[in-house]
Amino acid sequence: MTGQVVVVGSANVDLVVDVPRHPGGGETILGGDLRRTPGGKGANQAVAAARAGGAETTFAGALGTDESAELLLTSLERAGVRTDLVSRVDAPTGTALITVSPDGENAIVVAPGANARLELTAAQVERIAHADVVLAQLEIPLGTVRAAAAARRPGAVMALNAAPSRDLPADLWDALDLLVVNEHEAADLAHTDGTPEDLAKVLLERVLAVVITLGADGSLVAERDRPTVRVPGIRVEAVDTTGAGDTFCGVLAAGLARGLALPEAARLAGVAAALAVTRPGAQDAVPTAAEVEESSR
Ligand code: ADP
Repeated sequence: MTGQVVVVGSANVDLVVDVPRHPGGGETILGGDLRRTPGGKGANQAVAAARAGGAETTFAGALGTDESAELLLTSLERAGVRTDLVSRVDAPTGTALITVSPDGENAIVVAPGANARLELTAAQVERIAHADVVLAQLEIPLGTVRAAAAARRPGAVMALNAAPSRDLPADLWDALDLLVVNEHEAADLAHTDGTPEDLAKVLLERVLAVVITLGADGSLVAERDRPTVRVPGIRVEAVDTTGAGDTFCGVLAAGLARGLALPEAARLAGVAAALAVTRPGAQDAVPTAAEVEESSR
């Protein structure tokens, strides 16, 4: 192990039902069998970072004391994520209610539950202070993201995957080293439309480095005072793109923690994310380091 990653974020159990079409207000429809799978951006990204190897990954998140919490802990631990600092709070574990129509379109309601109560404990702050990369998303309170940024040591990377999309307060922009966003989130944060290069240019005025993920087209890596580079996409048969962005973020963080330059970390993250879209599910779809290496040859 050459690096330390702490993922500060959400964990949700995804309750997924295939439906012939999404129901309207006041309507009841019959769907397929219920699937109960581990998810949540924070937990997904922690699983991806741990599977990537080369870094030790801690998940700093909050779970309830219900059966869903056990499902999530089992998935994190199976991937090799350290769960010793997971908070247990007096609220239901975060849950996402997801219906999927035959054209693959999702309709999702998230009940944040424990995620909305995540406040960093002294032990979590201490672990963050030893991390090389701290990775957060926006399914937890902004104050907790802020506290994570404040707790990191000088020289460590504070990375934010600004999803779900929302505006960021000025003090949070100032506390970030790296922003990872998809094209929609980039446009929202830049308050403009344009090419990924245009968006990156605007965002670089607020943060030192930006990675914009571009779906099948790969990603764009932009750093102040370095040439902006496009990392080409990997051609695959897409089966389920759920969690592609999360796989990308986790593998990127693990790469940076073991000392890779941002473009190389983004290249590996793109390979891992492309493999993930060839498999169903979120955490279950994340490839191992060996699988990523095999595909990069
Ligand atoms: P999000 O899932 O957050 O919307 P993207 O759709 O940009 O993010 O996907 C994140 C990453 O996953 C991309 O940068 C790419 O590496 C990979 N990816 C996503 N969709 C595909 C696809 N259809 N084919 C190959 N790679 C993909």
